[in-house]
Amino acid sequence: MRTLLRNGTLITMNAKKQILEHCEVLLDDDRIGGIFPAGAENNIRADKVLDCKDKIIMPGMVSGHSHLTGIFQRGLWNEPTFEGWIAKSNAIERLVDLSAEDIYALHSAACIEFLRHGVTTVLNMFAVRPVLDLEKIDASRRAFMDTGVRGILAVALQDRSTNGEPQPGPFADKGWMSAIRDAFERVTNSTSRVGFMLAPGAPQWCSDQLLIPCRELAEELGIGIHTHLLETKGNAEAGRRLHGEPILPHLEKIGFLSGRLSVAHCNWLENEDIDKLAKHDVKVVHNPSANMKLGSGFARVKRMRRTGLTLGLGADSVNAGTVYSVFEQMKLAVLGPRILWGAENWVLPEEAFEMATLGGAKAMLLDEVVGSIEEGKKADLVVLNPKISLLPTNDIINQIALGENGESVESVFVDGTPVLLNGRVEAVNETDILAALASLAPRIRQARNEVLRLDAKAS
Ligand SMILES: [Zn+2]
Repeated sequence: MRTLLRNGTLITMNAKKQILEHCEVLLDDDRIGGIFPAGAENNIRADKVLDCKDKIIMPGMVSGHSHLTGIFQRGLWNEPTFEGWIAKSNAIERLVDLSAEDIYALHSAACIEFLRHGVTTVLNMFAVRPVLDLEKIDASRRAFMDTGVRGILAVALQDRSTNGEPQPGPFADKGWMSAIRDAFERVTNSTSRVGFMLAPGAPQWCSDQLLIPCRELAEELGIGIHTHLLETKGNAEAGRRLHGEPILPHLEKIGFLSGRLSVAHCNWLENEDIDKLAKHDVKVVHNPSANMKLGSGFARVKRMRRTGLTLGLGADSVNAGTVYSVFEQMKLAVLGPRILWGAENWVLPEEAFEMATLGGAKAMLLDEVVGSIEEGKKADLVVLNPKISLLPTNDIINQIALGENGESVESVFVDGTPVLLNGRVEAVNETDILAALASLAPRIRQARNEVLRLDAKAS
């Protein structure tokens, strides 16, 4: 199948960061087959032509850190502390007791929200309950497959509670490693569009007896590792208590820092920590909306950029942040530093745009495949039909980074396939999925009341 996007303005994100006007982009099956000046189409054989006059073609965005299950808690909790928030967030999830079909509906709905915001690649850090339940892991895989999103399923692992207590579970011996090998096979054996990563929850929730085998298994399977890192000041203190020294030096000592590791948040890094991450080519995913919503702190992105660190953006979970959108993250990544620091530490819109596209792809070890629109790469891209936030079009990147809310997203292609076309979700029945999401409301209300009742009793 060859599709020609005719006569659009193309944001390439190639090495020269070219923006090309009056451009033809040929999608040849799942790849970018070529980029030509307008008018060349007479010589190009295509099965379908999409007129992109006055439209913008940009790389599909990347959310390098997200939890899709969190969509069911949208709008809940205004806790003053991270610890209070995570306790309630985990408690309600236990009480709601989601089935595999619930997981499928939630993750599919989150994927649809991402697509409607021009996000084509998503890392889903999935705390499976019960741990390593293959049916639920498979439900999450199916959500990626059916909605058309390119996904990484990062299965969360931890052997400590969020208070740092040893937690009963399958991690007492190394039996969990064969369960992970099975999950890896199940997720990746039939497609290249869904990948797999190991996601130890956070260094303060994992002993070395879990972290070291994670590293070994990731090397064996040739996959990435993803974790939360120093999201709050309390995380830093808890890590020091568990490991007997600050987190970063400890992770370096046990050989955990490497180019296959990506870390989310990083709000409480010391300067030496930033240098260590850069030295080991660890990738950082910045989650400004979640950091601001939970009052966790704010990552020193500019400082990290100066050391050459790879940086991406993440929408995190909507129960910690706002919406499954990377437009929103770009905007907050630019605005946040301006009230915190001097101009030398401001993030520029084009820097945020790079984090939203190529940087995120690097963080997910997918930059050979996606993150820019160049011949030979996968055809994952977004067609924007400029609505009011992009008009008049004076500076495309500044306007996309600061003003766009998803309204201009008209069509989205993944692997050269239209997964959203002229505003319509193509691959799944959006109405049914949103109905399934809405139908959870009574169960959620009941569980929330129970969480609040137990909380009131305890205090
Ligand atoms: Zn997270």
